[in-house]
Amino acid sequence: MPVSCGRYVDALWCNEERSNAWVWLRHSGWRKLDDRNDDATINLLAIAAEAKSKGRSVSVHEEFRSGTWRITEIADFHTGTLGPTFNVSFAMSECIYGWTAAFDQRGTTITVRIRLVPDAGITAATMATLRTRWQTGIESKWSNRFGCCISPDCVGGCALNFRVEWVNTNEHHTVRVRQGPAGTNMTTWDTSDSGDVASHEFGHMLGYPDEYTSNLCPSRSPVNTGTVMDDNTEVVRRLCTPFCDRLGQPTYTV
Ligand SMILES: [Zn+2]
Repeated sequence: MPVSCGRYVDALWCNEERSNAWVWLRHSGWRKLDDRNDDATINLLAIAAEAKSKGRSVSVHEEFRSGTWRITEIADFHTGTLGPTFNVSFAMSECIYGWTAAFDQRGTTITVRIRLVPDAGITAATMATLRTRWQTGIESKWSNRFGCCISPDCVGGCALNFRVEWVNTNEHHTVRVRQGPAGTNMTTWDTSDSGDVASHEFGHMLGYPDEYTSNLCPSRSPVNTGTVMDDNTEVVRRLCTPFCDRLGQPTYTV
């Protein structure tokens, strides 16, 4: 199960029940601390409380057990793993297409701020549903597949964590949302688009071109790769190595 680095504890909660202690992980929500052993729970809570009080980031190992995410390890070695912040933006050109890739990378967390602009007639309730569908699709597709090694021999590592922030200002990308079904590209999505489709368009925002065959682009290469940039499915290693390269760290499979 993944280790994510550069995480912040924003709140703590416990009650009188045995080993019933929770922390609020920024961008994730409430997580129960491992409750198999009272001493372990207390140790985790102590580290979480100190990190919260000092505003430090921590590395968190999570396991999904009995229907709930549990934190089984917390490591406060923030100075070694958070890494610098990169505000990345570059021009992309492939075949007849051109666009600007843009995102932020802080350590192993990559954030893309997207401003959705719905057409008239698309309700707030529909937009809420779409935001949830697309964010879940994108983040689950891209995150926790590959990570960056802490040391050259890859003892320890941090999973790459890709995040979407829906914003009204300071966006990396603006996306028109229209009634679907319709054709989709990086800047125009529609109400029929699945989380898988959004994951593909998110790949363009990170700077990746299409990998499917097209009569408009007969010399495109590679094609038929079976990746998210081909058929909206898999995030593969080569799509993640640039983020570890940026940190000067090898890439590992989570
Ligand atoms: Zn595409």
